[in-house]
Amino acid sequence: MAGPRGANALKNTRTGDLAPLAELANNLWWSWNADAAALFALLDPRRWRETEHNPVAVLRTLPARRLRQLATDRGFRKQLRLVHQQFRSYMRRPTWYGGKYGRSVRSKIAYLCMEYALHESLPIYAGGLGVLAGDHVKAASDLGLPLVGVGIFWRNGYVRQHVGRKGTQHDWFVDLCARDMPMREVTNRAGRSLRLRIPLGRSTLVTRAWRLDVGRVPLFLLDTDIPENASQHRRLSHRLYCNDREERLCQEILLGIGGLRLLQALRIPVAVYHLNEGHAAFASLDRVTQLVALEKHSLRQAVRIVASTGVFTTHTPVPAGNEAFDPALIEKYLHAHRRKLKTDSRTFLALGRVDPDSESEPYSMTPLALRLSNYRNGVSALHGAVARKMWQNVWPGRTIDRTPIGSITNGIHLRTWMHPKMGDLLDAYLPADWDEKQDQARTWAAVKKIPDAALWELHQQLRQDLIDFVRDRMRAQLRRMRAPAKQIRQVDSILDHGALTIGFARRFAPYKRAALIFTDPNRLARILNHSTRPVQILFAGKAHPGDSGGGDIIARIERFARSPRFRRRVVLIEDYTMEVARYLVSGVDLWLNTPRRPQEASGTSGMKPTLHGGLNLSILDGWWPEAFDGRNGWTIGPARDHRGTQADDRRDAAGLYRTLERDVVPLFYDRTRSGLPRKWIARMKHSLATIPSAFNADRMVKEYFRKYYLPALRTARRLGL
Ligand SMILES: *Cc1c(COP(=O)(O)O)cnc(C)c1O
Repeated sequence: MAGPRGANALKNTRTGDLAPLAELANNLWWSWNADAAALFALLDPRRWRETEHNPVAVLRTLPARRLRQLATDRGFRKQLRLVHQQFRSYMRRPTWYGGKYGRSVRSKIAYLCMEYALHESLPIYAGGLGVLAGDHVKAASDLGLPLVGVGIFWRNGYVRQHVGRKGTQHDWFVDLCARDMPMREVTNRAGRSLRLRIPLGRSTLVTRAWRLDVGRVPLFLLDTDIPENASQHRRLSHRLYCNDREERLCQEILLGIGGLRLLQALRIPVAVYHLNEGHAAFASLDRVTQLVALEKHSLRQAVRIVASTGVFTTHTPVPAGNEAFDPALIEKYLHAHRRKLKTDSRTFLALGRVDPDSESEPYSMTPLALRLSNYRNGVSALHGAVARKMWQNVWPGRTIDRTPIGSITNGIHLRTWMHPKMGDLLDAYLPADWDEKQDQARTWAAVKKIPDAALWELHQQLRQDLIDFVRDRMRAQLRRMRAPAKQIRQVDSILDHGALTIGFARRFAPYKRAALIFTDPNRLARILNHSTRPVQILFAGKAHPGDSGGGDIIARIERFARSPRFRRRVVLIEDYTMEVARYLVSGVDLWLNTPRRPQEASGTSGMKPTLHGGLNLSILDGWWPEAFDGRNGWTIGPARDHRGTQADDRRDAAGLYRTLERDVVPLFYDRTRSGLPRKWIARMKHSLATIPSAFNADRMVKEYFRKYYLPALRTARRLGL
């Protein structure tokens, strides 16, 4: 190929004015800044779509001719200047943390997590945990917290999904090219690529690292796919959540021990470690081992020191979600740690067991993390209570109420999940600094000033955009399956721009009961196909590879979606990603959530539609009992745990139908002469006024800071860590 391209061409003097493009593309700040994203889309709209909105990849392959054209385009240059100024001022502006604590605390907080959902162009996430971590890091940047993230560069990402004719999920994986990602390789002081050597059983694992910038927060991603490693070690950073237990253990050693040692090698003054889920708990084990080996503390003293500066968030009440390993594997891969701790295998394994005396209990990351962190939490009030009950025996003799696990309810990063047009509407009616004051209830009181017609009109438009997006996706799917042209044309008759639209998107794990709404297909068909009050449902979600239960649910929903009576009203959107999520949560009228209580630790997906006036219809599980006030959405079933019986499933299905038939559908279609559903809009506004103010990531991160990070930072200073 001839001529200089993209990033290189940006150095060319004739296109020198465009240099800020590369700077912007290499900081994920752009991903929550609508003006920046719009600017990148102008570069090459087709490549922008093809690359899943990846500005680094677009710039790299942009022909020099196109760059010269843009360099002479005054409109483009002006917009670039504006966005660049916004970025610069974001990076420099005073922050909440800087104002309150900046002078007194110099050390940093490390945040370790297996996955981060920052943007669809960096698909190193599987679902809720990653979305939460991504939103946490972004909010930490907004607030100016001295936080550093650590994760893994999953070159093949998580499973991507095609759904075949019979509703079978076909798994596929990406192959990410590092130079198309907004990151750069971490180097040592000599300027050469950094290499860390981590003991792994009898051998040594070598890892390198990449640095990503998320606004002000650096995020380091470990990567073992380098020639120094044998193939089974290179593979460790390929796929997120592989099924092989041994490989999974090695991945967790990479994240925990590799993560800790990376921060140490970079001499980042970390004082507090936040393990976001148990996957990273070996970081704390390694800290303990270092204290014993180097500073001659006893094991007990070392555990006490590490725990006093450790934060651990548990995310799942489902037993299978709590990672456990065969003790023989722990011995195989961590015997060097055991030897350095000078303990027998029983004492060593006891750290990862609920009952230290049980020889039969597997080694589990949750008890390990609980023992090595003094600050522990579940992710909603209900989940905190469930976690106390679940892990009570880690503290024998304590009552459930005195079990030391608290809770901080999840929140979402508003600018990531809010449609820019909704942001504009809020700009017009809320206080100018609503974003900085998003966690104050009074900021949102002005929602009632938004004219009904303005809110409704925008909502209708976002719903239309969603339907058009879904149809495009369906056409692409049919073309891939080589469907006849007639069938592709018929896509236009599927779904309805004005119909009450229900969204259901999440991983297809059996406890989430995606197919609950199909319990009585005849009754559902009457609701959906009503002649004047139509209702439609959009599904999206993946099954974990090899999870036949999840695969069966997809096949079942897809069978319904293809049957004549549901064909126009039910669609399963392939390949749930952050992009699909953004469309869904901005366009749906109702967000449905049907887990078996109390298995949904928090959930965040239902918080996202509320930013656009979407209403929740949910089991009283996870975050919803804290948010529901009788008027900002609806509930299904009692505020009581599911007993795991079919009778409870039938009761919930009946409750769901009843609420749809009696409350939801009539309210949505109760229109004034001008076509406005006044009472529905009142609910939209009430939901918008009451939910985002409490369930945003600023509130969440500030709560982590005040309750956990700050006391832990103070302890660290006292201990001279
Ligand atoms: C918000 C979001 C989730 C979280 O879903 P929950 O079911 O609430 O845990 C998962 N995946 C994507 C892509 C999301 O945007």
